[in-house]
Amino acid sequence: MSFVIALDQGTTSSRAVVYDRAGTVVAFAQREFEQIFPHPGWVEHDAAEIWETQIGVAREVLSGAGIDWPDVAAIGITNQRETTVVWDRETGRPVHNAIVWQDRRTAQMCEQLVALGLESMFREKTGLRLDPYFSGTKLRWILDEVDGARDLADAGRLAFGTVDSWLVWNLSRGSRHVTDVSNASRTLLLNIRSGQWDDDLLAALEIPRSVLPEVVPSSGIVAEAVPPAASAAVPIAGIAGDQQSALFGQMCHRAGMAKNTYGTGCFMLKNTGHVPVVSNHDLLTTVAWQAGGALEYALEGSVFAGGAVVQWLRDGLGIIKAAPDVEALAASVEHSNDTFLVPAFTGLGAPHWDPHARGTITGLTRGTTAGHLARAALESIAFQSAELLAAMEADAGGASPVTELRVDGGAARNDLLMQIQADLLQIPVVRPTVAETTALGAAYLAGLAVGYWRSVDEIDSMWQIDRVFEPSMSTDEVAYRMGRWRAAVARSLGWANQKSEAEDES
Ligand code: ADP
Repeated sequence: MSFVIALDQGTTSSRAVVYDRAGTVVAFAQREFEQIFPHPGWVEHDAAEIWETQIGVAREVLSGAGIDWPDVAAIGITNQRETTVVWDRETGRPVHNAIVWQDRRTAQMCEQLVALGLESMFREKTGLRLDPYFSGTKLRWILDEVDGARDLADAGRLAFGTVDSWLVWNLSRGSRHVTDVSNASRTLLLNIRSGQWDDDLLAALEIPRSVLPEVVPSSGIVAEAVPPAASAAVPIAGIAGDQQSALFGQMCHRAGMAKNTYGTGCFMLKNTGHVPVVSNHDLLTTVAWQAGGALEYALEGSVFAGGAVVQWLRDGLGIIKAAPDVEALAASVEHSNDTFLVPAFTGLGAPHWDPHARGTITGLTRGTTAGHLARAALESIAFQSAELLAAMEADAGGASPVTELRVDGGAARNDLLMQIQADLLQIPVVRPTVAETTALGAAYLAGLAVGYWRSVDEIDSMWQIDRVFEPSMSTDEVAYRMGRWRAAVARSLGWANQKSEAEDES
């Protein structure tokens, strides 16, 4: 009997999961690693530690499953996206810590590129915004700021990659320098229509071609892994960025299918098929995957504070002891009593993109209780997600409408939140039995490539529903609430930049 292993390299931990042919989890292992904050707004990881924890959990999960590398039919990789690693091809050593997706050090560089009038070219070719979030400016920072890096790059010695590249390089003992097209689409360097690195983008960011990995499909044998202490090589056959992998693992394989992950933040992706829909509503256009055919695309929107608002109730206000307690507290009242909580703690993401927004609570009265606040907090997660879906549908202009939303992530376990979400969206919200869809997507991409699973139809038929939440609120009520929500958001926008009258006079 053989198995598929998924390596799920996340922002705070490295995980590994062994699956059998039924798609069942046989074993799971996880290790956290250090978050490095050298300056305010900077976030780094030690790339060597990423590799060591990842290979460590791989070994651990195999022994947990009672198997060894020869029992593994294929390896799938999914990873934190955009995080940037640059290493020396000769020594295999990184020339700097990995710069993590959250890192804002290149904000000024992005503003300069915008001032040069380059934003529309980047948007058109890459589907992204000129934001420090993406890899391109992080790579340029390393080339500009690390002593000798440009010279090494010019001599062909340096390799750039997102975390998938770094893992494949190490697993293949330095013989393969690749990245899958979904990860490549987050770099600001890839033309998402051709699926190739683009000379105009490289020139604008002053990136030499010599550092770039080969772009490979998301499903297909791309390297032979020879893990330490393994006697035989194992094919690496699937790679995708974490959100794209979750979209695949949620079996959103056709245009019009969408998933939302409710973690610390929320990530919503809608499959748009073979069409890269350029957003007029400030969403991102991204490559979903390339699996056995042409490139497929997705629209993506993210909410910065999703489950984080529940953490704030717990740690900031102290009105709950543990995150799951929010459900009972919110259910202790029938409605929020017209209280609206906008958790713009660190600004607002799509579709507002306002770094200066700050949190707001509107509608407080003497009768407002902790229950009303808890309910308003849960509703805020659902309102923000509803705004993302509305933006996606507006961009689609009626093409492939979303008829149900598939959900995962820690906060998707909250039944009340899921019911509120279905009410606001007026479509069913569907929660699968498998909550870890990110690792599952990578396992499927890999298993399909080696014939472990025969077809997308076969894995689609293995997907099982835990619960469906049907909308039960009137459209008038939804319209009223969304209107009140937007009014609350309007008060949040730009707050950190606003001055009081007294300040204006001084
Ligand atoms: P991440 O991968 O971003 O760490 P997870 O998917 O593990 O996130 O989900 C954790 C988040 O979900 C936390 O922000 C937590 O507050 C929230 N959360 C966990 N359980 C619940 C629950 N029952 N109801 C609401 N939020 C929850």
